[in-house]
Amino acid sequence: MTTQPPRDDATVCLISLGCPKNQVDSEILSAGLLEEGFSFVPDPAQADVIILNTCSFIREAVQESLEVLEQLAVYRREGKCRCLLAVGCLVQRYGRELGRRLADVDLFVGTEAIEGAGRILARHLRGHGEQTFFQSPFPSGPGHAAPLPERRTALAPWAYVKIAEGCSNACSYCTIPGIRGPLKSRPPGEIVREAAHLARQGVREINLIAQDVTAYGQDQGPKPSRPLLADLLSRLEQVEEVRWIRLLYCHPAHLDPASISRMGESEKICPYVDLPIQHVSPSVLKAMGRPYDEGRLRRLIDRIRAVRPDVALRTTLMVGFPGETERDVEQLLSFVGEIRFHHLGVFCYSREEGTPAFAKGESVSEAEKRRRRDAVMELQAEISETLLKGFLGTCQEVLVEGPHEEDPRYWKARTRYQAPEVDGCVFLPGDDRREPGLAMARIVRTGTYDLTAEILRDTPPA
Ligand code: SF4
Repeated sequence: MTTQPPRDDATVCLISLGCPKNQVDSEILSAGLLEEGFSFVPDPAQADVIILNTCSFIREAVQESLEVLEQLAVYRREGKCRCLLAVGCLVQRYGRELGRRLADVDLFVGTEAIEGAGRILARHLRGHGEQTFFQSPFPSGPGHAAPLPERRTALAPWAYVKIAEGCSNACSYCTIPGIRGPLKSRPPGEIVREAAHLARQGVREINLIAQDVTAYGQDQGPKPSRPLLADLLSRLEQVEEVRWIRLLYCHPAHLDPASISRMGESEKICPYVDLPIQHVSPSVLKAMGRPYDEGRLRRLIDRIRAVRPDVALRTTLMVGFPGETERDVEQLLSFVGEIRFHHLGVFCYSREEGTPAFAKGESVSEAEKRRRRDAVMELQAEISETLLKGFLGTCQEVLVEGPHEEDPRYWKARTRYQAPEVDGCVFLPGDDRREPGLAMARIVRTGTYDLTAEILRDTPPA
């Protein structure tokens, strides 16, 4: 839909903090801005409008968002910028409280209004210029997530595709349900159309995301009429140009046998499961509100490995939760040592106002939390290094992304066993540069978290 153009040819610099879900929101926001006639510049010093898509799920993220906004406010006070916007989670969480602290921010737009932010900005530039808030409450009752504007630009051969918004789980440490509202699944047809649209622009890998992808469809009435993850996967597999499909954020209590079987039968679904387990101690899991135990986790992992013996498992853990004892940490370390996840990240517990766990206070110091985290990561480094040695000399299909952002001597690629942004990658020597896309490569060196490969040939189109 095209609406009235903005007052003049305003340029926008959009900066995005936080997780992949936020990145998708930023792409949706960009599509809305393009519809309104805005153009983009990468440098905030050159922009008429600066937008920060914020994050606020833990204290550190709140702090980072506030600091970046304060830095950007300098451009608003002294530079070319004539409108500074804060959008996303921080606004949804703190609302009008932010106005006093961030007097130079002109517009605040919460997560629920993000797809209309382009229109809101255009109106604001034509209007009175007073500080304004848009922070709609969450939609309640049955219904799908609001349709998203078409994402026009695919800048890489891979993309995140959001299949649901919000979360109806009640993990006691988590602010997300309060910020993003209850689960709202997107209609399967809309998701498939988005995947096909991205594929036409050269995207070969789609990464399905949500707060809990395995809850997909649970808000859409009783079985069997509601859409299910396994059905969605089957439909996505039919999008010809999409060659890799990856599941991120699978809740261990919700990953169902049908989705696991699809992975076993499909050439497109990556042998990769992101299973954030958080912990294994029964008392910690119970206090966290995570409805499973170590035995159930073991059975689930066995089932996944029976279907895909080569599967790469990723997990996320949390240490320092109130009441966690040395013994609980030992149990966690021994589980990690036995299961041998390919990829693993550890968060230190962050006590967040507004969550049920807040009342429990803290039981260990920040230094002790870091010590526990480092102990797990030390063990993981050994496991990862050993597992990667198994790739040496093998031929792997890799997705070439482009020049490596940290080391220009190399190009960056990934195997099916590595997710974008969070896992290690494949380094390709610079003389092996290729157009972004799929290729066959031989692994010639392995490290702690990364691989090095030489390209053998491009993968023929499907
Ligand atoms: S599953 Fe738990 S941790 Fe994840 S977003 Fe939902 S409530 Fe938060």
